[in-house]
Amino acid sequence: MLQFKAPKGTTDILPDVARRWQYLERKAAELFSLYGYEPIITPVFEHTEIFQRSIGMSTDIVQKEMYTFMDKGGRSLTLRPEGTAPVIRAYVEHNMNLLPQPVKLYYTGPMFRYERPQAGRYRQFWQLGIEAIGSDDPAIDAETILLMINYFKSVGLKELTLYINSMGCDKDRPAYIRLLKDYAGENREKLCKDCRKRIDLNPLRLFDCKEESCQLVMQDAPKMIDYLDEACKEHFNKVRQYLDMQSIVYIIKPELVRGLDYYTKTAFEVVSPLLGAQNAIGGGGRYNKLVEEFGGPPTPGIGFAIGTERLSIAVDKEGAFVSTDSKMDVFIAIADEAAKSAAINLLFALREAKISADIDYMGRSLKGQLKYADKRGFKYTVFLGSRELESGKVAIKNMETGEQIEVPLNELVDKLLEIIKQNQPSISQTID
Ligand SMILES: [Zn+2]
Ligand SMILES: [Zn+2]
Repeated sequence: MLQFKAPKGTTDILPDVARRWQYLERKAAELFSLYGYEPIITPVFEHTEIFQRSIGMSTDIVQKEMYTFMDKGGRSLTLRPEGTAPVIRAYVEHNMNLLPQPVKLYYTGPMFRYERPQAGRYRQFWQLGIEAIGSDDPAIDAETILLMINYFKSVGLKELTLYINSMGCDKDRPAYIRLLKDYAGENREKLCKDCRKRIDLNPLRLFDCKEESCQLVMQDAPKMIDYLDEACKEHFNKVRQYLDMQSIVYIIKPELVRGLDYYTKTAFEVVSPLLGAQNAIGGGGRYNKLVEEFGGPPTPGIGFAIGTERLSIAVDKEGAFVSTDSKMDVFIAIADEAAKSAAINLLFALREAKISADIDYMGRSLKGQLKYADKRGFKYTVFLGSRELESGKVAIKNMETGEQIEVPLNELVDKLLEIIKQNQPSISQTID
């Protein structure tokens, strides 16, 4: 039996929420371009290998959560589970290393992971992200973190906690990983079944376990930040100095290990107290090996991703969506059939003048039309019938106050523009 429902783990973004998302995306585009970022749009699916190589074979994402399928040409394709690998693949493919560096790109779009659906967690979810490719300067790490914080502020979030950490590099990490494995091995008995597997597969993920007994063990585990080599230590200190200079408050969280294999050096995460257990609204980090992984020249990079669903919930809880007012400006009520053609001409003339307008398409009576206009929340109604066409005069009714004025038909558009400007902003300007 066919189920006419959205597939499990997916959800429809209905107009009230979709409008908010558009607003969040618009604010992001504005701010990101202020920092020199340009938009990029990559395919929603890639060759499976792109994610296996970048995210890492041992991660949960690659092992269990990818939507992988064979297409009709026998290629293994995967719906993108995250946005960074595709952008880096595009950077290499289009020789962007030959452009002036760093190359700063931002994206927005759906990502896909086959996870157990939970509150605020979907199998198709949206992310907003940036990537700054080509520089290892700690100042760009600080800028990236600052951009994320400033973006959250720009959409009205007030209370945020920023965690930062350093994940080291391929010079100091292998020795640390051995220490970590030894420590976890000694405490094997106290770890859950999943964590026992992680010891060999992906020991950094031990820090992400939700089991209390595992968390207790990991509290005393050696932390990467204590085993950084001089270069990584220096880099991390510089990032901190730049953040301090901008009075950005942060907490160093040695347990913060971004779960993907490609991260090096700076890692960061922002959480909102307005969200429940799933309180992270954005995170990112440096990935100095990724471009090479895709066959490009050694090129450092850093970026972040923000979860649109959670961001939208947090901004809503903060009460910071200024307005989701969808009120349209003008409804044209057709008093009799003879005026229909004139009404349709008027309708398009209004829209041409950037006045949002609509008309009845359901054959309602005049009374029915007014009821509809009221329900849909039009600000003004214009009455058009054979009487108005003959006299050359039309009435404009303010739907809120009930007040009515009469104006010459040939001045109607200008009059409406004037009235609308005097009163509230029109739909194109709300929300800001
Ligand atoms: Zn290092
Ligand atoms: Zn565990």
